[in-house]
Amino acid sequence: EKMSSAEAIQLEDKYGAHNYHPLPVVLSKGEGVYVWDVEGKKYYDFLSAYSAVNQGHCHPRIVGAMMEQAQTLTLTSRAFYNDKLGIYEKFVTEYFGFDKVLPMNTGAEAVETALKLCRKWAYEKKGINENEAQIIVCENNFHGRTTTIISFSNDENARKNFGPYTAGFIKIAYDDIDALEKAITSSPNIAGFLVEPIQGEAGVYVPTEGYLTKAKALCEKHNVLFIADEVQTGIARTGKLLAVHHENVKPDVLILGKAISGGVYPVSAVLADDAIMNVIKPGQHGSTFGGNPIAAAVAIAALEVVTDEKLAENAERLGQLFRSEIGKYIETSNIATLVRGKGLLNAVVINDTEESDTAWNICMALRDNGLLAKPTHGNIIRFAPPLVMNEEQLLDCVRIITETLKQFEK
Ligand code: PMP
Repeated sequence: EKMSSAEAIQLEDKYGAHNYHPLPVVLSKGEGVYVWDVEGKKYYDFLSAYSAVNQGHCHPRIVGAMMEQAQTLTLTSRAFYNDKLGIYEKFVTEYFGFDKVLPMNTGAEAVETALKLCRKWAYEKKGINENEAQIIVCENNFHGRTTTIISFSNDENARKNFGPYTAGFIKIAYDDIDALEKAITSSPNIAGFLVEPIQGEAGVYVPTEGYLTKAKALCEKHNVLFIADEVQTGIARTGKLLAVHHENVKPDVLILGKAISGGVYPVSAVLADDAIMNVIKPGQHGSTFGGNPIAAAVAIAALEVVTDEKLAENAERLGQLFRSEIGKYIETSNIATLVRGKGLLNAVVINDTEESDTAWNICMALRDNGLLAKPTHGNIIRFAPPLVMNEEQLLDCVRIITETLKQFEK
């Protein structure tokens, strides 16, 4: 018996606790850049599960690796070694250029891991007194939903009535190098600087060119760890393998998630060199599923796809095309005012207030017209399709987006 969209929505709403605010569409199939709803309507996916499905839906090579491993060995926990993990760890550290990896499952969990790593390093290597380490973070950041992470969020909806919060964070303006210098020099207890190389959830804010380079130099000068959260920007999304590569910056600690598995399985990772990572000793951190054989097999396949299918190059080329085509429309539009982004992580700003529901209404109309996107605010829509898109598909999408926006012109 097939369920209708209305029935499926009713079921989720009745039995599922509220967490996200879903667009009313019920998906039952995905392939490449497309998803289908239960009635069989086909859509371009312009969210890619918040940039997890960079390699396209149900990539046969990644799904194949998962199926093969699932029939052999699924989970041992790290109470024992498994024959896939070491191979993956060698592969992933060489792929990104670090000595060591700490495997986790979700983005937020990897951020938590990086924060713990940074604190321990500060006490054992930098000589900060225990419990006094401070980590600098940015206004309007998004790093996940755990209690510690929401402690330094600006999102009142995500924070309010979830306290008491974790102490030890200093918040500064994003893309403001003077603010960073002031914060870094404000106390001898600064341990790290946690930053998104492009702010994703905030609305796709690309910092001024040179910001990341200068920030890294400041961190180096003051012996502070530069921690890059590339959960959303990583894995070819912005037109380079990592967004920090646009400025040739190597973070001290790199946080990855989402597309490291192509969205096929939960995989995240924290990477660092020995001098930092070795402060974590056996028994001090871990997770039952972290580094399991399926995760290892899936992540290797997903990263091989990124290289073999030249997804970074494709994202760079199609991203330029997207911004220039949408830019042409914006010149004469009174509803869209700006397109910004890098590679295939882009946002269009709508001529209305942050509190309005205009972006939501546009996303509903896009849905009707066969394209799925989500607002990050009342006036910002993010456009982030799978990176396996081709030029013809992208131009078709530009047509859908501009025709839909025209429906909203005043
Ligand atoms: N960091 C960044 C930059 C993110 O964009 C996200 C998810 N949107 C996370 C962390 C959290 O990842 P997860 O939802 O897998 O916990």
